Amino acid sequence: MHPNLDRRASRWLAIVSLSAACARGGGGVAREPFGTTHRGEAVSVYTLKNAHGIELRVLDYGGIILSLQVPDRSGRLDDVVLGFDSLGDYERGSPYFGALIGRYGNRIARGKFTLDGRTYTLATNNGPNHLHGGVRGFDKVVWAAAPFERGDSVGLVLKYTSPDGEEGYPGTLRATVTYTLTNADQLIFDYHATTDRATPVNLTQHSYFNLAGDGKGDILGHVVTLDADRFTPVDSTLIPTGEIRSVAGTPFDFRTPTAIGARIDRDDEQLRYGRGYDHNFVLNKGATGNEPTLAARVYEPTSGRVMEIATTEPGLQFYSGNFLDGTLQGKRGVVYRHRYGFAMETQHFPDSPNKPAFPSTILRPGEEYRSRTIYRFGVQP
Ligand code: BGC
Repeated sequence: MHPNLDRRASRWLAIVSLSAACARGGGGVAREPFGTTHRGEAVSVYTLKNAHGIELRVLDYGGIILSLQVPDRSGRLDDVVLGFDSLGDYERGSPYFGALIGRYGNRIARGKFTLDGRTYTLATNNGPNHLHGGVRGFDKVVWAAAPFERGDSVGLVLKYTSPDGEEGYPGTLRATVTYTLTNADQLIFDYHATTDRATPVNLTQHSYFNLAGDGKGDILGHVVTLDADRFTPVDSTLIPTGEIRSVAGTPFDFRTPTAIGARIDRDDEQLRYGRGYDHNFVLNKGATGNEPTLAARVYEPTSGRVMEIATTEPGLQFYSGNFLDGTLQGKRGVVYRHRYGFAMETQHFPDSPNKPAFPSTILRPGEEYRSRTIYRFGVQP
């Protein structure tokens, strides 16, 4: 556990470590085939377990988190992420369930940006805008995967080389993302990339959660705390206007624990544009150098499950599953209705390549892109 995460967490609400709640023993990694893509690539699923019964299943296709079994306050395991049973379902049209997102998480306005005097054109795959890396982003490619087991953790190293010009982006980008599941009940994402030409990079993880259990209803009762005094308001196509606005007095103020559903239906222009929450929060961050700082805490009252998120990133996209509408059938036949899952995507701000005042997302040759996000699971009595 990072000391900073512990210290800041205790400022909010203490959680009972799962180690105390349910010692089960036995960790490990296993690999099995999961099907073949329509291009003929073999896909595997890796099952990672920690010593307290947490089980994570990950595909090398898109780095997708297929399932995540986490104990509730009585020790009962439930899958807390949304997803599909088959590879075909993911390929046919997934709203990024569980996936790694790249090269650029979230939107780039009109699919255009100018870098070093040259204008680049990307796919407009979301209304007038570019979303989540384009038509075939990092969520739809097969990554080279290598599992590992260490004394107190298990994990998977995922590597992908994105060729120069892929999806319109400049430069060959070599990306490595490491998923680590620790016996301290953390799921750690370490992102690393290098390039041979200047390019925007904004990698994130797009799991949708329901801490009551996948398919167990909407997520409106989840209680969220965000360490963010400000957010980036958007236009009607969900592109930030460039303003950095205070959350004070708005439905975006999650500085004290508040149910997602408490204000989501208010008559508010930003909630209307997002059809709910679909906004980037500007994280307060402490003066902690490059260490992850606590950004979010989510508590689900019926199960007692808690998820804390710490990150080195400056922003977090809180998405309340507004586009889920009952047309997708997921794992075990579950139907994903409106707001049956939420995502908390740690990231740089949307449309940064067109917003010089936002923290830069440009990676240049000789530089290293590094980013770390930690999800920590526990229960609250
Ligand atoms: C976006 C949403 C989008 C969702 C799924 C989120 O990151 O902000 O607008 O619907 O991803 O694609």
